[in-house]
Amino acid sequence: MKTATVIGSGISGCMYAWALQQKGWNVNVIERASATGGGCRTFTFAGHPYTWGPRHFLSPYPEAYEFLNKIVPLRDLKKINYNYQDDIDTFFTYPPHEDDIDKLPEADQVRQELRDRPDVAEGANYEEFYTQRMGPTIYRRFNESFNKKAWMLESNAEMDFGIAATVKRNALETGERHEFKDWYNCYPLASDGYNKWFDYLLEGCEVRLNSNITNFDIENSIVVLEDGEKIKSDIIVSTISPDILMDNAFGELRYMGRDCHFMVLPGERIFPENVYFIYYPNPETKITRLVEYKQFTQHESPNSLVVIEIPSKKNKLYPMLIQSEVDKAQKYIDNMPDHIFSVGRMGTYRYIDIDDIILAGFEFKKQM
Ligand SMILES: Cc1cc2nc3c(=O)[nH]c(=O)nc-3n(C[C@H](O)[C@H](O)[C@H](O)COP(=O)(O)OP(=O)(O)OC[C@H]3O[C@@H](n4cnc5c(N)ncnc54)[C@H](O)[C@@H]3O)c2cc1C
Repeated sequence: MKTATVIGSGISGCMYAWALQQKGWNVNVIERASATGGGCRTFTFAGHPYTWGPRHFLSPYPEAYEFLNKIVPLRDLKKINYNYQDDIDTFFTYPPHEDDIDKLPEADQVRQELRDRPDVAEGANYEEFYTQRMGPTIYRRFNESFNKKAWMLESNAEMDFGIAATVKRNALETGERHEFKDWYNCYPLASDGYNKWFDYLLEGCEVRLNSNITNFDIENSIVVLEDGEKIKSDIIVSTISPDILMDNAFGELRYMGRDCHFMVLPGERIFPENVYFIYYPNPETKITRLVEYKQFTQHESPNSLVVIEIPSKKNKLYPMLIQSEVDKAQKYIDNMPDHIFSVGRMGTYRYIDIDDIILAGFEFKKQM
C-alpha cells in the first residue's frame, strides 16, 4: 500500500488525510501540537470555548456546507460587526450601512463620492481599490489606518496582490445589517466546535501528536522529527509554509500575526445583540479588533470571554497580499519535486478559508 506523510493536522492536513485514506493510502499525520485541528481547534479559557482567531464557516458553496454540517451541525449566524469612529464617539456597523451615512460629519461629500464611484473597482492595490469601491472619505475613515495597522504597512499601496478576489464583503451594506446575507454564515452548535470533525476526517489514519518535524529531505521524501527519527513515504502533503520546507532557499516569506489577550468580563453578553466583532481603525490604539466569543459559541455562563487582538510578528497567521511575496511562494512551489504537495493556507501562501480547503480536499481526492 502506498504511504503518505501529512505535515500538520489543521483543517488542510485533516482534509487531505481524509482524501488519501478514502483512496486506500496508508496515511501518517504528524502534528507538533498536543491536539489536532490547528487554528480551528476549540480550546477553553476558564471554561469559555474559543478558537485561535474566530473561525466561522462562511461560504457560497452548498457542497462544502453539507460536508461539514453532516458531521458537525451548524447554526446560522446573523453576524454584525461594529466599527468605532473615535472623533465622533460613534459605533457604526461594518461594512458601513447606507442608512448611517447621515451620522457622518462628511455626509454630503460621501454621497457625492458614492455617486461618482466607477461601476467596478479595479484599483491595482488596496488603496486604489478601496478608494474606488467606497469613495475616498469612507476609505479614509474605515479602512486606511486600519489596514496599515493590521498589516504593519507604511502605505496601503504596498498591498498589490489579488485584493478584488480576497475582498468578500459588500462595499456598503443595505437592508438588514448583518453581513453575507446570501452565503452560508455559520458556526458549529457543539460546544467543542469543529473538534469532532477532525476526528471524523482522521479516522483510519495514524496520527502522531507532539511530534515536531525539524528537518526535511524533500528530494528523498523524508521528514525528520526533533528526536532524530526519520519517516520516509511515497508522497508528502505539507500544510506548513514552503520556505520552511525548503530551508529558506529563496528567502523567508512575510506573514502577519496577532497577539491575543483573553479577558473574561462580568455579564451574560458584553456586546449588543448579534454584534460579534468591534473594529478599531484609529491609529492611536494598537487594538485592531475585539471579539466576543460567546456570540459564536453560545456558551452558558454569567460571564463572557472577550479577546483583544493586536497585530504582531510573533506568530505567522496571514500571508501578505503583496505580489513579490506571492511570487516568492510560487517559486518555492514550482521547485518542489512532484511527490511533494504544498497545500492549505500556509502551503499555498493564499488567503484561503475553511470552505476553500474542503473543496480543495475534494479535488485532491479525485486526482489521487
Ligand atoms: C486568525 C485567523 C482567523 C480565520 N478565520 C476564518 C474564518 O472565520 N472563517 C474561515 O473560513 N476561515 C478563517 N481563517 C482561515 C482558515 O481558518 C484557515 O485557512 C485554515 O484553518 C488553515 O488550516 P491549515 O490546516 O492550512 O493551517 P493550520 O490550521 O495553521 O494548521 C497547520 C498545522 O501544522 C502544524 N505544524 C506546523 N509546523 C509543524 C511542524 N514542523 N511539524 C509538525 N506539525 C507542524 C501546526 O501545529 C498546525 O496544527 C482564518 C485564519 C486565521 C489565521
